[in-house]
Amino acid sequence: MPPAAHCSDAARRRGDRPRPTARRSNGRPLGHRIPRLGQDRLGRATRQGRLLMPPLIIRPTVVPFVTAWSGEHLGPESDLTVQLTPGPRLGYQAPRPTDRDTAGALWARMTHSPGTGRPIYDSMHVARQRICMYSMKCQICGNPASRNKDGWLFINWRRPWDPPTWPEGSLTEQPPLCEPHARMSVEQCPHLARGDYAVLRVQTPRLWGISGTNYQLTTGGWHARESNVMVPYGHVGLNAVLASRMIRELRNVTVIDLAK
Ligand SMILES: [Zn+2]
Repeated sequence: MPPAAHCSDAARRRGDRPRPTARRSNGRPLGHRIPRLGQDRLGRATRQGRLLMPPLIIRPTVVPFVTAWSGEHLGPESDLTVQLTPGPRLGYQAPRPTDRDTAGALWARMTHSPGTGRPIYDSMHVARQRICMYSMKCQICGNPASRNKDGWLFINWRRPWDPPTWPEGSLTEQPPLCEPHARMSVEQCPHLARGDYAVLRVQTPRLWGISGTNYQLTTGGWHARESNVMVPYGHVGLNAVLASRMIRELRNVTVIDLAK
């Protein structure tokens, strides 16, 4: 395993010790929430736990397109503001056209400089994950993902909160793959070697929603409350979440054997 990212970007910005950022709130959960804690708001591993859904890792031969680099940084929380639409929602003080996706979710900003510093194999870059998931690009090379009569090519591994119908109906933050890189992932990725996974053709990879950091509006402005909150598109809770991953629901799946 490559070394995990041991501190959050917020902690790095502050120059202090990392603190657990994934905390259970007393409020009602928004949509779904990943049940394991121990990540910063981008899904990077913290000292409290291991990453839930890292990119498919090909180290050391390839750095996946979606992998974040140590020279890439999140924008400061001071960029955030309260927008009245007419109800309050999370926004940026200086909005950009790419801040929101087509469903209206607000996305975290992150500098884009792949190749700067060292690759953080346990972390996906916010915008590159979003691009691959939305546009169905291969998460390893960034080229179009494989699609045939049975559907798009995904690799999905079973997690404790998956439905009993797994892999049918599972939610994934893992973008699809081209066929050569799906084969390479199966052969080389240490995460796949450890887990219960399936290579899938997916007829209906439905855009489901996002995961990100849930903010609470206080008299002093927005206060980050809980990370790794999964919120479906159309849910009112999107107004208070800063997205860092796009999620698809895998419907009409066929388990395949790439070796054949
Ligand atoms: Zn590829």
